[in-house]
Amino acid sequence: MVISDLKQTCPRCEGSGHQPGFTALGISQINYDGRCPACRGRGFTLTELGQDVLKLLRPFIEEMIRGDRPQSAPLPRSEQSA
Ligand SMILES: [Zn+2]
Repeated sequence: MVISDLKQTCPRCEGSGHQPGFTALGISQINYDGRCPACRGRGFTLTELGQDVLKLLRPFIEEMIRGDRPQSAPLPRSEQSA
């Protein structure tokens, strides 16, 4: 598996991440923050496989960000029952 399996160049902005405006229902509109709405300015989108991998990794990433295990799920303390 390589990284290009997980992400692809955004087809809407062609990887630039910027889009000054867009056309909706035949009317030209200003895109106020200038970022591509399809990739939110990243210039790439996740493939289906990339989204699956993200879903798989998200709990681990969130745990790393918190830096500890959740308070609501303490480890069982079986040694104290003896
Ligand atoms: Zn884009």
